[in-house]
Amino acid sequence: MTQVRVRFAPSPTGFFHIGSARTALFNWLYARHTGGVFVLRIEDTDKERNSDEFLNVIYNSLTWLGMDWDEGPQKGGEFGPYRQSERSEIYQGYMQKLLDTGRAYEQDGAVWFKHLGERYDVFDDHRKKNVTKVKTEPTVIEDRIRGRVERLEDEDFVIVRSDGSPTFHLVNVVDDIEMRITHVIRGEDHLSNTSKHVELFKAFGAPLPEFAHIPLILKQNGPGKMSKRDEGALVEDYQSRGYLPEALVNFLTLLGWNPGDDREKMPIEEIITLFDLPGVNQSNARFDEKKLANMNMHYLLELPSEQFVVMARGYFESQGEKGATALATDEAYFREVMQLSQPKIKSFEELPDYTCYFFSKDYPIIEKVKTKVLKKGEPKARLEELIAFVPNIDFLTDESIEDGIKALAESKEMGFGNYQSIARLALTGTNAGPSITAIIRVLGRDRVQKRLARFLQSI
Ligand code: GLU
Repeated sequence: MTQVRVRFAPSPTGFFHIGSARTALFNWLYARHTGGVFVLRIEDTDKERNSDEFLNVIYNSLTWLGMDWDEGPQKGGEFGPYRQSERSEIYQGYMQKLLDTGRAYEQDGAVWFKHLGERYDVFDDHRKKNVTKVKTEPTVIEDRIRGRVERLEDEDFVIVRSDGSPTFHLVNVVDDIEMRITHVIRGEDHLSNTSKHVELFKAFGAPLPEFAHIPLILKQNGPGKMSKRDEGALVEDYQSRGYLPEALVNFLTLLGWNPGDDREKMPIEEIITLFDLPGVNQSNARFDEKKLANMNMHYLLELPSEQFVVMARGYFESQGEKGATALATDEAYFREVMQLSQPKIKSFEELPDYTCYFFSKDYPIIEKVKTKVLKKGEPKARLEELIAFVPNIDFLTDESIEDGIKALAESKEMGFGNYQSIARLALTGTNAGPSITAIIRVLGRDRVQKRLARFLQSI
């Protein structure tokens, strides 16, 4: 059996978005599943719209997501160069072949691909002009995901523009031939191009690759396809927000594929084993940013604690001013705060807000929470009792702290709950966060005493 060769063929005309990443991933997975070759080919023939910035984003995002390419820019390979802007001569040669065999002709300075069959002119109502049609049979695409698709290609189309630049149809097919691509896996939006491409393959006398058109990704809310402009669409945003690439990859895998059962979180090795084209859904997938956040949370939870701390530090470092106070505290304290936060956050971007009161004496007190807490029972009395009792608390563990407060409560014929909300409000300014005993332990006796006293004075 011939070795599978797939390619990801982005045009560097914009930032790298979720849809492109998913296409790249399905190709990469198929290559890894079959022991094949994953080619990266840059379709940069449109000089006006391409930029090096976008090109670098593609390289960085693929690398960040762990999709290593076997052939392509930076890597080389037998069938290079892998940037179409460096392959003009090859396209010239292929164009000439079609001219020589009568499958292309020149008109108005451009070169046209010629369909075989009888020609006739009709008036096209839509375009308001006469067009030449060709009597021909529909083109058949045996798609690995969609099954048999038929499309009528009954009009010649341009393969080289009058300025001499080859069109997408020509370069895409020529490179798939030249690079020995066996499977073209791409978005369903290309299905209308594929019938043209099939005719080109045939005209070149080249074997057809297998085609697999993957379903669209629908936007999170409302109808329609997700676009680059939709919120949450850019891969590099997730990178800068501190998402884990493993989580994003796992999430992308599920946009149009499932392992045959309802499992969602899976290690990449297992996805590679199970991934196959028949498993790709025919129906469209809907983007769900909440699901992605949840996936990320599950991956964060599983990180070894030390690694979480290192990555959290890296995230704070990337935040400039916003991360400065946290980074200025001593390492052991920073570590403890991070370990407390690990099971509670969905992504690193939540960390600065989630942990702000640990690192600043001037943490904000949420007025609404304050009003609510101060209304119930006799919070001031409980606060005074707690302040007096703090020296007796054993700060060693969450349990010893809980035991201490319980003992206090018992002695006053109160419950643990009578001290909890007021302590949380005084120590953190909020009503959310980790358990109160953990907060007390990590803050330590000194901070706890100062914060409680200062809050008492303020009410
Ligand atoms: N450059 C095309 C795109 O970005 C490639 C299409 C293909 O995969 O054949 O959509």
